[in-house]
Amino acid sequence: MPVKQAEFFVSNSDPAKCPKPDRPEYAFIGRSNVGKSSLINMLTGRSSLAKISGKPGKTQLINHFVIDNEWYLVDLPGYGYAQVSKTEREKFAALIDGYLTGRSNLLCIFVLVDSRIEPQKIDLDFMYNLGEKGLPFVIVFTKTEKLGPNKLQAALDAYRAKLLETWEEAPQFFITSAVTAAGREEILSFIRPLNAEFRK
Ligand code: GDP
Repeated sequence: MPVKQAEFFVSNSDPAKCPKPDRPEYAFIGRSNVGKSSLINMLTGRSSLAKISGKPGKTQLINHFVIDNEWYLVDLPGYGYAQVSKTEREKFAALIDGYLTGRSNLLCIFVLVDSRIEPQKIDLDFMYNLGEKGLPFVIVFTKTEKLGPNKLQAALDAYRAKLLETWEEAPQFFITSAVTAAGREEILSFIRPLNAEFRK
């Protein structure tokens, strides 16, 4: 079932000012340019809900969208942009950390990874920290239409092997493309039962 309604709700730079945790919430994060805005637009069926490639690393805001009047989709700022100073990186880490640890309604974090790029330390470290905090997350491979099926499978296998060096079990994977809309139904079907559980 596609998303019927998707509306921008609020942007802020202070995790304490996020909306009250009255709806289930899902956060989307990844390195700058991973395809996060494109994925959010693809999932919601809106062409410009999230802004595609403005200036990478520039917007350090937590953006809440309300989907179907039922759940929050949260667009977190992209990390790992090389051109930012140490002070900005620290500010960013504090912002993300404050957000991640402060949301009782955060049911899952979608960590986006470009399927064409081999496992990156910054992504693996980010996931490791989520694990340390006991926060649930899944991995979303982006831009997968760029790889043929064999190359994609090899990339997924390599990623899984890398994760299994640290984790006992690999997290759930989603295979997506903003170009073909691959993965949309899978992600929405993953979210719906969690929403139903939250309401109980
Ligand atoms: P963000 O910085 O993570 O929000 O990334 P954007 O959504 O702005 O995308 C970064 C670049 O990757 C843009 O040039 C997009 O057109 C491109 N892109 C995003 N998703 C896909 C995809 O699924 N397939 C392909 N081929 N390109 C994509």
